[in-house]
Amino acid sequence: MPTDPTKTSVSPEANSAPPESPLLPNASELPAPSPPVAGENPDFSYNAAPPSRRDFLKVAGASAGALLVGGGNLPKPKVAPAPRVPFVRAGESPDIVVVGAGAWGGWTALNLRKLGAKVTIVDAYGPGNARSTSGDETRGVRSSYGDRPGELGEVWMLWAREAMKKWIQFDDEWGRELRLNLFHVTGDLIMRSEWDNFQLRCKVWWDKNKIPYQVLNPDDVRKAFPVMSMDDITAVLYEPDAGVVRARRAAQAVSAVFEHLGGKVVIGRASPGKTVNGRLTELKLDTGATIRGDTFVYAVGPWLGKTFPEIFAKKTRVPMGYVCYFATPIGDYRFTYPNIPSYNFPGVTGWAALPVDNRGFRVRGGERAPDQVVAADGRGGGRGTPANGANAAAGSGISNASVAAAAPQGAASGAGASATNADGRGGAGGRGGRGGGGGRNGNAAGGQRGGGGFGNLQDVPPQQQDPDTSDRWANQSQIDGPRRFVAHRFPLLKDAPIAQTHSCHYESTSSGNFIFDHHPGWNNVWIAAGGNAEGFKMGPKVGDYMSKRVLGYQDPQDKLFTIPEKDFEPPPTPADSTKKAAADSAAKPVPPGGKPPGLR
Ligand SMILES: Cc1cc2nc3c(=O)[nH]c(=O)nc-3n(C[C@H](O)[C@H](O)[C@H](O)COP(=O)(O)OP(=O)(O)OC[C@H]3O[C@@H](n4cnc5c(N)ncnc54)[C@H](O)[C@@H]3O)c2cc1C
Repeated sequence: MPTDPTKTSVSPEANSAPPESPLLPNASELPAPSPPVAGENPDFSYNAAPPSRRDFLKVAGASAGALLVGGGNLPKPKVAPAPRVPFVRAGESPDIVVVGAGAWGGWTALNLRKLGAKVTIVDAYGPGNARSTSGDETRGVRSSYGDRPGELGEVWMLWAREAMKKWIQFDDEWGRELRLNLFHVTGDLIMRSEWDNFQLRCKVWWDKNKIPYQVLNPDDVRKAFPVMSMDDITAVLYEPDAGVVRARRAAQAVSAVFEHLGGKVVIGRASPGKTVNGRLTELKLDTGATIRGDTFVYAVGPWLGKTFPEIFAKKTRVPMGYVCYFATPIGDYRFTYPNIPSYNFPGVTGWAALPVDNRGFRVRGGERAPDQVVAADGRGGGRGTPANGANAAAGSGISNASVAAAAPQGAASGAGASATNADGRGGAGGRGGRGGGGGRNGNAAGGQRGGGGFGNLQDVPPQQQDPDTSDRWANQSQIDGPRRFVAHRFPLLKDAPIAQTHSCHYESTSSGNFIFDHHPGWNNVWIAAGGNAEGFKMGPKVGDYMSKRVLGYQDPQDKLFTIPEKDFEPPPTPADSTKKAAADSAAKPVPPGGKPPGLR
């Protein structure tokens, strides 16, 4: 039974006031929600001087794709190219080729370039493209990894903290010229009906690493943010430095800066070309071009299994995840940055609409309908993550139910549903049959995300497991769960229109960890992939780490990120599914009018 952290000691550095004290400002002290001033870019309201208008800005802001392909209109770099490190040879061919211009490839290329290497990025569709996992509008940035097992959670926490600083540095260095602000510090409220292991472990590691956080009095939060319904909440942990980054724009901005500093971006689908003495010497592009290089970095996100199936097909999975952006009410800025922090309720994360783009109030995850059945053991569906499963399997003493409920970011997809037992994911709501109004639920424990159809991995058509061919359309059932959530937690948004949905593949690995390792067949080829639904925020840190590794530096953490030996369990057979369906049908229904377990 978790202890009540309000009775445990709190690090004086982080929490000078006793936990009982209100640590958020009182409602009366909060600034009144205000609309952005017309004609101004609110992102730049802190800038003393108006941003300069250079060609670079226009090109980067207006059409990164065009810029990135052609690059011919670029002004001269305003900084001298970084000094070349001895590693880099002179010559016509690029020294290093990075495949993939998502968060990981882009940042790796930028850092390599800053270290003096001659670098080319190749991307099949371009930076921030709609199929990439980095192509969504926004991504959460937080360091709360109390749900990850052992050392991993603490490492991720520290990486995320470093990444936060680097996002701020990037905005400081380039924001004015790019006329955009990528990282918005929102703070993150982690709210539970009672203290759970996720919160408690975050707290232990935050204390240990002197990371600022606050234990808040739920009444103060209620008063400060009356638009949020949290009557059942008794445990609130707050990470003040957490925030939200504009994802698609960040991928484009990083690539634009990379080009500005002399890097080259090429659009094309790469496949390995010639190899000589255990080394890859060139890539072939579908455009017919050949790109030679000394070293290659594959940062292909959910394409990893497809790119090197013999190595990664069984070590990676790419279930689909869905995000809803709800349009905020006209003239009501209470759901708009900076007027409300990011939030984390069991199984659901989200944040305010960011001004300028204003894609809407973001929700990932949802609540199941009251009439949906749940498994007899009360395991909530659609909330687990591979690491949660690993946690439970490792005998951490955390029950399945509490681990699942604690997961801040569950993988929400029917494709993941079958992995309930295989990789530890809570069974996510199955993906609904198209236009079918729901189809069947993935399994009894998996209705949380409001899905139907594709309840088991073997039911997911092959084209849906391929980021090149998958359909990204979100059906009604994928919107119903999030809508039930907003109706419960943000009732003023219960009828809010959907401004947009976004779907992309997760890139889960059988280890639940990132992969930064050599390709086992070619000693000049590196793999940087497996963000496990948490990779975007890490981009700047990944870029720093990967660039140094590629240039020959060693780090004691290297051994943590090797290609996992184990494979994912094979998906259940149809016979397994029939057995499970029979067990599920015997599961207890939620009493009429009652709330599903875990969603008190
Ligand atoms: C629904 C959802 C919500 C998420 N929420 C968060 C969050 O809140 N916070 C967070 O930190 N993370 C989150 N993540 C995870 C995060 O978005 C990913 O970890 C991250 O974006 C992965 O970046 P990447 O560069 O590894 O892959 P990608 O962004 O997918 O980039 C890979 C690139 O490789 C290119 N490519 C592939 N094959 C080839 C080839 N053969 N030749 C050329 N190019 C190729 C593709 O075109 C693509 O652009 C979420 C993920 C999902 C699905």
